[in-house]
Amino acid sequence: MASGRSHDQATRWLALPFGLLWAPWLGLVGVAVAAGAFLVGGLWLSPDLDTRSRATNRWGPLGWLWWPYRRGLSHRSLFSHSPVIGTAGRLTYLALALLLVALVAQGVMALAAGSAPLRSGDLAAGGQAAASWLANFWQQQRPLLLAAVLGLEASSWLHLLQDGDPMPRWPRPLRALARSLRPGPRRRRSQTGRRPPQPGRQRSQPGRQGGRSGRQN
Ligand SMILES: [Zn+2]
Repeated sequence: MASGRSHDQATRWLALPFGLLWAPWLGLVGVAVAAGAFLVGGLWLSPDLDTRSRATNRWGPLGWLWWPYRRGLSHRSLFSHSPVIGTAGRLTYLALALLLVALVAQGVMALAAGSAPLRSGDLAAGGQAAASWLANFWQQQRPLLLAAVLGLEASSWLHLLQDGDPMPRWPRPLRALARSLRPGPRRRRSQTGRRPPQPGRQRSQPGRQGGRSGRQN
């Protein structure tokens, strides 16, 4: 498993080579966008936002935005340490978190000013305006947006490769369900008639660490 420092170093070293891949099609702007997205993906939107890590610290005073994400997912969960799902999940989470913060701030300001807060009709109109702006932006800047999205995803792949284990952990409830369905040797008596070791005893052994360790990989 790679340390946070190794992840950062690899991201910095490979950002420019990745950006240069886009030079023949998109020129210098494409190089800048792809390399910048690669850096942002590896340093600020890293899969290790699911635990206390250098990426979490990098958000500084805005680090609390990722607290629910960290609490909701176990470290190296399927939803944070998977190709495509990981990046898509972090982008969606960040968009929703910022939207929620904006709505709360607007409500507080409206209350302070004595005016009415946003109504559902206003929200629907705002959503429609945002969707049409995004569609327009996609039409006009599709190549650059593609370079940016692939830059974010490529840095995530680099992270997963460095972690060395391409299989992420399933969410806790699914793991528990799989354990309960598995006809494991724990339930059978061995042929010598002795009970196999109990899981509770193994848990109490010193040095064993749980899934949510502070280690970032
Ligand atoms: Zn990791």
